[in-house]
Amino acid sequence: MLENAKELLNYITSKGYKAYIVGGFVRNYLLGMESNDIDITTNATPKQLQDIFENVNLPTTNYGAVIINRNGIRYEITTFRKEISYENNRRPIEIKYIDDLGEDLLRRDFTVNTICIDKNGKIIDLLNARSDLDNKIIKTVGDALYKLEEDALRIIRAIRFSAVLGFNLDEELINAINIKKHLLRNISMEKKKEELDKIFSSPNAKKGIDLLLKFGLDEELSLNNLSSVSNVDSLMSVWSVLNVIDIYPFTNSEKKIISDVNLALKEDNYDAKTLYKYGLYVNQIAGSIKGFDKKVITELYNNLIIKSRQDLDITSEDIINIIGKPPGEYITNIYEELEMKVLYFKVNNTKESIIKYIMDNIDRY
Ligand code: ATP
Ligand code: MG
Repeated sequence: MLENAKELLNYITSKGYKAYIVGGFVRNYLLGMESNDIDITTNATPKQLQDIFENVNLPTTNYGAVIINRNGIRYEITTFRKEISYENNRRPIEIKYIDDLGEDLLRRDFTVNTICIDKNGKIIDLLNARSDLDNKIIKTVGDALYKLEEDALRIIRAIRFSAVLGFNLDEELINAINIKKHLLRNISMEKKKEELDKIFSSPNAKKGIDLLLKFGLDEELSLNNLSSVSNVDSLMSVWSVLNVIDIYPFTNSEKKIISDVNLALKEDNYDAKTLYKYGLYVNQIAGSIKGFDKKVITELYNNLIIKSRQDLDITSEDIINIIGKPPGEYITNIYEELEMKVLYFKVNNTKESIIKYIMDNIDRY
């Protein structure tokens, strides 16, 4: 990844601009950890980047990042900037592009996110952040109270980095979080969810949750059930226990999973009917929340005689022919009855047995 990124930096600098890798990739690289993407900081403006790269879209938001995908790597390129004014403790409303890397680093959140790598692979550490990285400390760039007041999302980011990296929070930052935590209420639910997703999906999710609780952020973030989250083996199991689909923005499929898990939690997850009705994934999540063995649930699920209606050895046409009436509600009723009979071994899943069952009960349909 680094070699690819250096090539990109060489290309940008060959056009007369400055460009450095910054943020998460450099931090993780120095810690020997993997990164999903690479942040680049440059004095080239989005328009100038559009001139030197083919097929690049301008950022969707004012002062947003230019995104480039190259060799399977996603680059987020931002122009050196100074953030002039903030509104309601949220992202800046006024920004100025500047020409100086040092000044750009000063607007960033934590020291460990300010180390850069240049086109030759040389480490550039203008704010002497290396010692914080080596000492595993999350410390704001400049005054902590001021930084959190400026953008309160940094409170959750601090917790995220502390949990994911296993770093300690600097004393001044701890103090500032306690004083400024109420400002989290001003931050958009989308932004907060993005950071919470990263905490909950990390192998260190438990540590992140403990920190959120320690600072009383469950209340500020409307996560009333946070203290009852004990199983953290998947993002969806955490969100299912929190059960905040009306408060945070979830996709429709996430909403469906969370509500199904909560319904499945009320039932016996070792029971054939529950396994069949909600499927393996939802039952595994519900089971894990209850502390059940995933392997047992998977085995029971795999042993179900049918996994869906299509697995029954009969078609709707067959049913219509047997009953001899135009299609109607009765087809669904018969299917539902057959599903239960087959699942619980009362009727064999063969055309012959199913037809016999329908014939024996024909008066009821
Ligand atoms: P990740 O590993 O999640 O990508 P990251 O540190 O790269 O971690 P990003 O959200 O990708 O985090 O942001 C890239 C860089 O931009 C950060 O390292 C930091 O320097 C700066 N940054 C991001 N969000 C903020 C913020 N809210 N306030 C100040 N600086 C920020
Ligand atoms: Mg990043």
